[in-house]
Amino acid sequence: MPGDDRVFDVVIVGAGSAGCAAAAEAVRAGRSVALVEAGPDYGAFSRRWPRDILDPRRRTERHDWGFEAQLRRGVSTDEARARVVGGCSAHNECAAVWPPAEDIDRWRVPGWSSRELAPLVDRVESATGGAVVRGRAGAVPTRAWRDDELSRWQAAFLESAVASGYARLEDASAPGPATGVAPFHANVRDGVRWNAAFAFLDPVRDRVAILDRTVAVRLVVRGDRAASLECRQGRRALALRAETFVLCAGTYGSPALLFRSRVRSPDLGRGLQDHPGVALAYRPRERSSARRLPFRSQVVLRASSGASPLPWDLHVVPYQTEPDELLVFVFAMAPLSRGQVDLRRGEPRIRFRFFEGAGRRDEDALLAGVGIARAVAARFAAFAVETDPGEGARTPAQLRRWIRANVTSYSHASGTCRMGVDPASVVDERCRVRGSRNLVVADASIVPCIPRANTNLLCMLIGARAAQLLPAT
Ligand SMILES: Cc1cc2nc3c(=O)[nH]c(=O)nc-3n(C[C@H](O)[C@H](O)[C@H](O)COP(=O)(O)OP(=O)(O)OC[C@H]3O[C@@H](n4cnc5c(N)ncnc54)[C@H](O)[C@@H]3O)c2cc1C
Repeated sequence: MPGDDRVFDVVIVGAGSAGCAAAAEAVRAGRSVALVEAGPDYGAFSRRWPRDILDPRRRTERHDWGFEAQLRRGVSTDEARARVVGGCSAHNECAAVWPPAEDIDRWRVPGWSSRELAPLVDRVESATGGAVVRGRAGAVPTRAWRDDELSRWQAAFLESAVASGYARLEDASAPGPATGVAPFHANVRDGVRWNAAFAFLDPVRDRVAILDRTVAVRLVVRGDRAASLECRQGRRALALRAETFVLCAGTYGSPALLFRSRVRSPDLGRGLQDHPGVALAYRPRERSSARRLPFRSQVVLRASSGASPLPWDLHVVPYQTEPDELLVFVFAMAPLSRGQVDLRRGEPRIRFRFFEGAGRRDEDALLAGVGIARAVAARFAAFAVETDPGEGARTPAQLRRWIRANVTSYSHASGTCRMGVDPASVVDERCRVRGSRNLVVADASIVPCIPRANTNLLCMLIGARAAQLLPAT
C-alpha cells in the first residue's frame, strides 16, 4: 500500500467536534498533525460553504453517513451523523449547554473532575452573558437567544412555562434553581452555525495536513503499538504513520474502526447511551404568514419527572422545522437504558435498547414528562391544539403504548468506548486504549455516563483534553 513518507507526531481520525479541538490543541503544543476526514473540507470559513451547513435553520442531508438505528425492538429510524469537516457540529441545532458539575464528578475518573476541567471550559467557549460556569476566552462564540429573536412558537412556550410556575432561568446551564425555563445559548455568529472547524481549525489550518474525502479503514496494530493507519481516498489506498493515533471518529466511527482493527476490549461497543424522547405535535389555530424557515430549537424547560432521585431529569423542548409544524419534545436526561454498537458487513450496527432492563425507568420519566408538557401546553391552547398523540392517548396505559411506539432520541449518542479506571473500560484516564501505548480515543464515545446536557461542547472539551494528555514526543 502506498504510504506517506512523513511520520506525523499525531494522526487524528475525524474532523468533528472533538477532532478539530484536538488538532488545534496538538498544533499549539508544537506537534505535527494530520487530520483524516471521510467527508469534504470546504476550507476556512467563507460564505462559499454550502448553505445547508452555514444556516442553522437547515440540516444538510448531502453530508450524512446514512446510518439506521434500532431504538427498541420493532422501532427503527434514520440516525443522522454528519460526514464533513466540522462533523456533527456542522449540522446540529447549535444548543450550547454545559453538563452539571455533579454529572461530570460522578464519572470518578482521575483528572476529569469538574474542577480540573474548568480551565479547559474557558479555552473551549467564549460566551457572552449567561451562567458563571461558562467559558469566556475560548474558541466557540456563544450567546443566549434574545426574546425578540424567538419565533412565535418558542415565545409562546416560554411564556406558558413561566405562567405555569416555572422560574425563568438565567441560563440553561445554570446550576440553580433546579427547574425552570430559558432560551438556549447558541453557537450562532451573524446567522452562521459556527461549527468546530471555524472555531478550532481555522486558526491553525496552515499547520495541519488535512486529508479530506479520506476514509480510515483500519489500524495495523503490532503488539502494544499501532504501526499505521490504512485509508481509502476514492479508489486510492494510503497508509499513514504516526507516533500517536487519535480516534475522533465519533460514537459510531471510533468503535467501528477499533473493531475493524481487531482491537479486543470487553466493553467495546457496549454502553451506548442517548437521551430517549418523544415529540407531541400541535396544529396552530391560525396558519402562519411567515415565509422564512424558523430556528428549530431556541428554548428549553428543565423539569423533574420524579422518576429519578435527581432534582431535575427532563428537557422539554419546543421544536419547529416549518412555520406551521409545532412540536414539543420531552427527553429523559438521566437515562438508564444502555445499548450497543457492533459491526455488520464492516459498518456500525446501532441498537439503543431503550426501556429495556433498568431502562424501564426512562419510560416512567417520559410518561411524567408528557404530563408536564401537556400542562404547559394548556396555557397556549388558544394558539395551538395537540394533534399527536391527541385524544387517543389519555390514560397512562395508552400513553405508555404511544411512548414505546414513538420513542426517538436527542441525537447525543455516546459511551461506546467508555473511559474508566476498571479493566473492562475501553480507554484509561489518558484516553489510551487499554493495552496500547499509542492509540487514543477522544470523542463522544468515551463518555462514561451521559450527562444531563447536550453534548457538543463536551465533545470539544474531550478532544482538547485528550490532546493535552498525549505522550511527550
Ligand atoms: C442532528 C443532530 C443535532 C444535534 N444537536 C445538538 C445541539 O444542538 N447541541 C449539542 O450540544 N449537541 C448536539 N448534537 C450532538 C453533538 O453535535 C455531538 O455529540 C458531537 O458533535 C459529537 O462530536 P464527535 O467529535 O464525537 O463526533 P462528530 O462530530 O460526529 O465527528 C466525527 C467525525 O469523524 C468522521 N469519521 C467517522 N468515521 C470516519 C472514518 N472511518 N474515516 C474518516 N473520518 C471518519 C465523521 O465524518 C465526522 O466528521 C446533535 C447531534 C446531531 C446528530
